[in-house]
Amino acid sequence: MSDKSTSAKPYAVQRTDDEWRAALSPAEYQVLRKAGTEPAFRGEYTDTKTHGVYSCRACGAELFRSDTKFESHCGWPSFYSPLAGDSVEYIEDRSLGMKRVEVRCATCGSHLGHVFEGEGYDTPTDQRYCINSISLRLQPDEDAAPEA
Ligand SMILES: [Zn+2]
Repeated sequence: MSDKSTSAKPYAVQRTDDEWRAALSPAEYQVLRKAGTEPAFRGEYTDTKTHGVYSCRACGAELFRSDTKFESHCGWPSFYSPLAGDSVEYIEDRSLGMKRVEVRCATCGSHLGHVFEGEGYDTPTDQRYCINSISLRLQPDEDAAPEA
């Protein structure tokens, strides 16, 4: 296994491995801190259309807005753009014999998912941020209508 903890930039939120284990559920820890992937079509936000902001479940940093969420039918929540360009960071991931781009929370370094582009989705960016529900926490807008 390659050690990917060589990022030069210190994160604003830093915790030891033991602290993360204590703060997160085992399933959350596996995805957020061990770059795991939740099963497709099982995540709680896969088909959610509630308006609001999705924050990092590990540190609470705001990451995505519901406006950029779209139906990709890939089994995970998909967004075409992060809330702000510097809210996430990108790490080249060559595991599984593929070249992919891992998306991490720029505030705490926790794993969120991967970003893919050029897949032909009808979105403004032609990018798909394929994010684990368990890495996120939705804060519905104050005036959000209940999900239909
Ligand atoms: Zn975070």
